[in-house]
Amino acid sequence: MKTIEDLDVAGKRVFVRADLNVPLDGTTITDDGRIRAVAPTIAKLVERGARVVVASHLGRPKGAPDPKFSLAPAAVRLGEILGKNVAFATDTVGESAESTVAALGDGEVALLENLRFNAGETSKDDAERKAFAEQLAALADLYVGDGFGAVHRKHASVYDLPGLLPHAAGDLIATEVGVLKKLTEEVARPYVVVLGGAKVSDKLGVIDNLLKKADRILIGGGMAYTFLKAKGHEVGISLLQEDQIPVVLDYLKRAEETGVEFVLPVDVLVSAEFPDLKTKAPANPELVAADAIPADQEGLDIGPKTRELYAAKLADAGTVFWNGPMGVFEHPDYANGTKAVAQALLDSDAFTVVGGGDSAAAVRILGFDENAFGHISTGGGASLEYLEGKTLPGLAALEG
Ligand code: ADP
Ligand code: MG
Repeated sequence: MKTIEDLDVAGKRVFVRADLNVPLDGTTITDDGRIRAVAPTIAKLVERGARVVVASHLGRPKGAPDPKFSLAPAAVRLGEILGKNVAFATDTVGESAESTVAALGDGEVALLENLRFNAGETSKDDAERKAFAEQLAALADLYVGDGFGAVHRKHASVYDLPGLLPHAAGDLIATEVGVLKKLTEEVARPYVVVLGGAKVSDKLGVIDNLLKKADRILIGGGMAYTFLKAKGHEVGISLLQEDQIPVVLDYLKRAEETGVEFVLPVDVLVSAEFPDLKTKAPANPELVAADAIPADQEGLDIGPKTRELYAAKLADAGTVFWNGPMGVFEHPDYANGTKAVAQALLDSDAFTVVGGGDSAAAVRILGFDENAFGHISTGGGASLEYLEGKTLPGLAALEG
């Protein structure tokens, strides 16, 4: 893979596919980690006299403009981080984009509006995607792929566009891939993996590969309930993926055969209601054993015994990969499980990698020093698919 050092960027329009998909509360960015992560690449290009055209997606708009998902707040924040003005185009390939890019001088930066305001970006139709990529290509001379959080997507700006322009990987992608590669090679043991979060089906696949690699797998968050159910426990109204139970049973069986330690919660915090994340009104959860979840309640965090158990299982780790919060950390009553795991990572001497948009945000929002972790990845799905051994379209396109 070429790096930006291999490109002659002075005076050229350089399209930087970034991942500025930051969490927003209205128009307020609640965690700017992804913007800070790609800023060094942009700064380097600026310093070398490039005319930098940054583009990203944000959220999941339905292929048409939707002010809720505007990247305008990201342009302001990127400007603050770079210490220079970032021009903002109010469309992606229309008049505003054209005139904004045409007005760029050497060393200046513009951000285009959300790529996903255009149906061509995420289209499954190759021709439609390619047509959009060609419109994007007209805005630039060179392409730099640095949106690690999106490299597992076969999208126009990620997969098709690099084929249309001389291209290279940005520094963020180079770093991310370097760290993940380390996790697939010789690792310091015990290698402990912690999985949680809400996207159960997205995350089960990685276990297949990790069963060949990890020494211990700790399960929390929403996916824990599919495992508990598979073991024959009732899980009330907790997140559950009934159709995945055979898969989960197979994992448990293989873990036993290969000596991989699989650890499930022993106690959980439950409530009849999902907490109000806006008002953060007290949720008054109840603590129950993991095999005694009442029928009308849902599990929303791991309990204190599980926190202690997981901390003990992490204490002697040589390597840790963590993806997915242990509970609904956005509410203070359900943040303790996630806090305990973050603290356990810091307390261990392990090489620690945190992956996942929400996991990374959780670490920072809960007040931990991000620099104390080995690596905080900007990509959840991307890092999981890499560890699954899949070919990532956005990385493959940069290789070519
Ligand atoms: P990441 O972005 O780190 O990959 P996910 O997007 O999969 O993580 O999941 C993050 C979300 O999971 C958080 O918003 C959190 O509130 C939610 N979550 C965690 N545990 C539970 C649970 N038991 N029930 C419902 N949602 C949960
Ligand atoms: Mg997420």
